[in-house]
Amino acid sequence: MKLWNKIWTTINQSSSYDNESKRTAVLLRCVYLVMIVYHFIFFCLMGFRGLLREGGFHVSWLAVISAIATLILLRLSYRQKISTNLKLFLVADILWLGGFVFLFGWGCGAQQIMFVMVALVYFSFYDALPQKAVFTVALFLIRFIMFSYTQNHEPYAALPDTLALVLQVWSSLSFFTLMGIICGFYSSNIEMADKQLVQYNQRLQEEARTDPLTGLWNRRAMRDFLNLNVKNYPKMPFSVAMGDIDLFKRVNDTYGHDCGDAVLKWLTAHMVLMIEGNGQVCRFGGEEFLLYFPDKNGDEAAVLLNEFILMLARTPFEWHDNKILLSMTFGVEEYDFRSDLETLIKKADEKLYFGKQQGRNQVVF
Ligand code: GH3
Ligand code: MG
Ligand code: MG
Repeated sequence: MKLWNKIWTTINQSSSYDNESKRTAVLLRCVYLVMIVYHFIFFCLMGFRGLLREGGFHVSWLAVISAIATLILLRLSYRQKISTNLKLFLVADILWLGGFVFLFGWGCGAQQIMFVMVALVYFSFYDALPQKAVFTVALFLIRFIMFSYTQNHEPYAALPDTLALVLQVWSSLSFFTLMGIICGFYSSNIEMADKQLVQYNQRLQEEARTDPLTGLWNRRAMRDFLNLNVKNYPKMPFSVAMGDIDLFKRVNDTYGHDCGDAVLKWLTAHMVLMIEGNGQVCRFGGEEFLLYFPDKNGDEAAVLLNEFILMLARTPFEWHDNKILLSMTFGVEEYDFRSDLETLIKKADEKLYFGKQQGRNQVVF
């Protein structure tokens, strides 16, 4: 576990080029590690058979040279631009591949690495699609040439059938692993980006609907909600009330704007308590609130609001050492199953205005 953590910490570093994707660097390093293991096992399998000793020339050492070259690329990935590093890897791999196919023939299975190269190029480079398409076609041509060559020429060191089979299986296993790593990396990348985008959009939507000071819905959110409710439940009675804090300017002038803000929050908390389970409240404007009472006629809404006003008269707001008695005026309007929302709100507002003229601290229905 400790060793694994150490390896992961080593792999999981950015290159010295800050503006490059760290994920691509990490992915490439994982690919390099798998490739090093691949070359090493390839070499061991060859050596185990002692196959090429008979020829007097240990061509399988090419696998070791490739492993060392990959190790150098791995080292370079910490200092080099990752895109340059990847290009070097592609060139090195094509050379290695050409060498392997020339030496051991098509049967060694190394050519399957080409699919890994295509996946790497498509996922890791930010180049335009035509360039990637050109690379794919070029790779296909190289593969085609190599295949044609092996059809017409005996490999330098022909593999016995069993070894060819083992190497095929080993190559398939390694390259499937690499494809899995690459696709896994990028699918999780896309999933993560998608998730972040959805969360960001939700937050934006939430922010666009919420009043930052009180946390209540704003006017727009309440309007949308009410319109939807009228549309979905056209036969349901309801009432709306417009509420306004009495002489709020005086609170600001006497105790300061901070105190005014605290009053807004305090009253909001009490209104939410009062209306919880009975409806909704929104901050309609500066110190005005729109309340919605579903399934309640005007009288029932007025009863609730009168209780609220009485509670305010008994419960002073405390600001430092001051106890401030607050009051509010409300205008209530009942849905008549005809008027639109704007008309209802306007009528509630007119009643609120009337209540202010009548001396404030009251509910007008
Ligand atoms: P009335 O009883 O007639 O409603 O008197 P009022 O003083 O409450 O009414 P007026 O319209 O004269 O003043 C409303 C004040 O509300 C003025 C404005 O500075 C204050 N106000 C509006 N929004 C905020 C806010 O977010 N924070 C604070 N602290 N004050 C606010
Ligand atoms: Mg006011
Ligand atoms: Mg006002």
